[in-house]
Amino acid sequence: MPASRACLLDGEALAARLRREIATAAADLRVRGVTPKLVIVIVGDRADSAAYVARKSADCAETGIAADIVRLPAQTTQARLLDVVAELNRDPAVHGFMVQLPLPAPLDETAVLDAIDPAKDVDGCHPVNLGRLLAGTPDIVPCTPAGVLALLRHHEIAIAGRAVAIIGRGMLVGRPLSMLLSLKGIDATVTLLHSRSRDLAATVHRADIVVSAAGTIGLVDKTMVKPGAAVIGVGISSDADGRTVSDIDDAVAQVAGFVTPRHGSVGALTRAMLLKNLVAIAARAA
Ligand code: NAD
Repeated sequence: MPASRACLLDGEALAARLRREIATAAADLRVRGVTPKLVIVIVGDRADSAAYVARKSADCAETGIAADIVRLPAQTTQARLLDVVAELNRDPAVHGFMVQLPLPAPLDETAVLDAIDPAKDVDGCHPVNLGRLLAGTPDIVPCTPAGVLALLRHHEIAIAGRAVAIIGRGMLVGRPLSMLLSLKGIDATVTLLHSRSRDLAATVHRADIVVSAAGTIGLVDKTMVKPGAAVIGVGISSDADGRTVSDIDDAVAQVAGFVTPRHGSVGALTRAMLLKNLVAIAARAA
């Protein structure tokens, strides 16, 4: 088997560096009398959601950000959840909050997310914040797209004028990332692919940068990748051993110039961007 030649895109290391910067910014805010505070609302007892929340909580502890977890039972009504959101919107000690998705049925996720005050939308996924991104005046940027951009910049991968293929048009990753990378000043030429795209492999093969946000194991294989391209796996699934694996086949490393590791790299960056957004929001109160 040919040896890997690609440089690994190490999101974990970059996230650790970002957490140190966030800790400094949070300490500076505390000196100015503001304790940055994040609240995470979790409904029900999904093990994966609990694990994500635990990691976010650990990152808050490491960076000196106050974190409260509001745990609600799976039977919580829509009205009760909207009341909790309204209370958090009103609470001046809470700088930002998020509702961990997915919500148990029959709760209406769209209605809940729309009820969050856009100024406290630390996830950047409220329609007002997505609209600002679309309008070219981004404010609070969605965390995973911001993490992907940070990873590309950290590795000094040229973006302006380059062909970028994004697989997946979901509202958390693919669609906002397409808006972010095509902003004036970032200037990528973006193609947004999805499950109904024709010629997906050929389009990916023309790309200088490939970001897969589909959640399909091995979706991007080495035959689809232009030699030297940067390939980022955001989509995650569980393999037979229950481990998290990205959309990028291992053999891609034989042709790509840069590639994320098999077991992911972007999750830690997503969490770092959440805290970066929180500290930026808290700074407005200082
Ligand atoms: P989503 O379900 O909203 O969107 C998935 C998209 O992928 C859809 O547009 C669908 O058309 C496309 N797709 C699925 N299979 C495809 C295929 N075989 N070919 C082409 N397109 C295909 O998901 P989302 O919320 O946008 O998240 C995308 C993925 O990223 C998920 O796997 C999610 O778990 C992961 N994710 C990772 C992080 C992280 O921090 N690493 C953060 C958020 C989401």
